[in-house]
Amino acid sequence: MSHLTDMEQLFGVIDQTAIILRKELNCLYLEAVAETGENLFHEEILQDELDEVTKKRLQKEYSTIKLSRFDKETIRKAYQLAVLKGMKEAVQPNHQMTPDAVGLFISYLVGKFMNKHETYTILDPAVGAGNLITTILNTHAASIEQAYGIDIDDLLLQLTYVNANLQQHGIELFHQDSLQPLFIDPVDLVVCDLPVGYYPNDEGAKNYKVKAEEGHTYAHHLFIEKSLTHVKEGGYVMLLIPNNLFESEQSHLLQPLLKEEAIVQGIIQLPLSMFKQEQAAKSILVLQKKGQHVKAPEHALLVNLPKFSNKEAMNDIMNQMNEWFYVNKK
Ligand code: SAM
Repeated sequence: MSHLTDMEQLFGVIDQTAIILRKELNCLYLEAVAETGENLFHEEILQDELDEVTKKRLQKEYSTIKLSRFDKETIRKAYQLAVLKGMKEAVQPNHQMTPDAVGLFISYLVGKFMNKHETYTILDPAVGAGNLITTILNTHAASIEQAYGIDIDDLLLQLTYVNANLQQHGIELFHQDSLQPLFIDPVDLVVCDLPVGYYPNDEGAKNYKVKAEEGHTYAHHLFIEKSLTHVKEGGYVMLLIPNNLFESEQSHLLQPLLKEEAIVQGIIQLPLSMFKQEQAAKSILVLQKKGQHVKAPEHALLVNLPKFSNKEAMNDIMNQMNEWFYVNKK
């Protein structure tokens, strides 16, 4: 059976059972996706309130698949499709899941930048539904000593929890505002698809260097500062940022922080065609926290990615990038 068919088959079961659970539990489709994920993981129907007929209908669906037969990427993609379907119904644009192509590209960068570390710890302070972090774990689990995820949204965090369980990854999860004090030691690598917009808690923003002189501070600026605080000296921070990060009316507050605390290792602009509007377009910013023995590259990795479907242009860029890594990250 082909890979795609496996994924479709698993998605079909998650989707059908989520539709049943949504109706019977009178909840959101996304909540039902979390519930059915728990059932799949425990191989048991956990919702005691369901009547026997509903339980039998669910059982019939679950019995058509065996989870252990699917590889982790198939499980991630099938679950991701169900979450995407649910997000259309319920989630704000800023809380959207990191797209697959972006996750895979960040995962490639993780492999390249972390190649000197035999093992490392990783934190995603805006873990959402866990698509980005599990994409990275699916490639680099053998080198990842411990993964941490934080999110302010309890439903998204529950989806990450179920997602990680189904893919058999241990991620330590925290339900909290990441801009408040964290109960995690500094890590070797922070990855984050930044929530973009204003942070409403002015009192909470007070302790940050990037706080706005007046009014609300940009949450994405606070996240960048927090990421730099929570990474070890010489550690890396890989962030999905809005393209206008350095041109906004608060960017003069961010520039000195970056200069003081970090080395810009790379800025990789994602293809504009990935985004509905040009203003929503994003780049990947790679920072390294300053520290002893940390050297800046002769020049940062500055790349404009072509459309991912343009194989020739993509190959060309990948060759140039590999050359940069060869020279700078031997
Ligand atoms: N990488 C995630 C994924 O693959 O599903 C998507 C991240 S989404 C773009 C941004 C996330 O930031 C949302 O899940 C949102 O709930 C979270 N968020 C926003 N403000 C936050 C805060 N102050 N503390 C923690 N999480 C926050």
